[in-house]
Amino acid sequence: MSRKPIIAGNWKMNKNYGEAVVLAQSISNRMDDFWLNKVDVVVCPPFIDLKPVKTVFEFDRMDVELGAQNVHWEEAGAFTGEISTGMLKNVGCDWCIVGHSERRTLMGETNEDVNRKAKALIAAGMKPIVCVGESLAVRDAEAQDEFVCAQVDAAFAGIPAASAKSCVVAYEPIWAIGTGRTATPEQAEAMCAAIRTTLARIYDQETADQMRILYGGSMNPGNAEGLLAQENIDGGLIGGAALDADSFVDLVKAAL
Ligand code: PEP
Repeated sequence: MSRKPIIAGNWKMNKNYGEAVVLAQSISNRMDDFWLNKVDVVVCPPFIDLKPVKTVFEFDRMDVELGAQNVHWEEAGAFTGEISTGMLKNVGCDWCIVGHSERRTLMGETNEDVNRKAKALIAAGMKPIVCVGESLAVRDAEAQDEFVCAQVDAAFAGIPAASAKSCVVAYEPIWAIGTGRTATPEQAEAMCAAIRTTLARIYDQETADQMRILYGGSMNPGNAEGLLAQENIDGGLIGGAALDADSFVDLVKAAL
């Protein structure tokens, strides 16, 4: 089954307005638009950088897609500090990360929140990148498959197969995020295969085979080749290496 790979950059809480424009422009300058037939490229800057980053890629006619790092499930109202799907759509944002481990750990985001956010994004015609992943303690207890697959079950509860097909799952072991300690290709593949088996159980094999599953956690141009060569790894969600245009574009090239 051939799935189009995705390289998605999570800029986290980095880059002010001017810096975001410079990074987007540097990425655009290094890209060949022909590559985008073979790989989907998504950048996820902070909310206030979404519009200027979009403008850079639009001006260059470079079809790099835009993602947010979070969203609220309500459409509008008294939710101070939150952003809705409609607001994201309005600035040309088609993707959104949900359930990143930093939001689960630091902001108390629950599996139920992740499910609500995924449903709201789907209802708005957007594509969620659903992050799942275990802590080192869970891995040391050899409970990682059970833990991560339960996160997948919870995230997709009540989402029909037709909608799930446009969703992406990102397997991001917490112990590998921002630590420089990458999962081995074998560890990452084993979990991504288990996630696909879970999706096949929730839906059916055809749906699971169409869904894209990414690896994230200290991925960089030096270790990408082995990870991207795995049967069940359809790209990467990139943190640190996405903040450097050369590294990010090298990762795009590695996925071609
Ligand atoms: C992330 O936060 O999604 C991530 C994968 O970060 P890093 O690449 O820096 O480990």
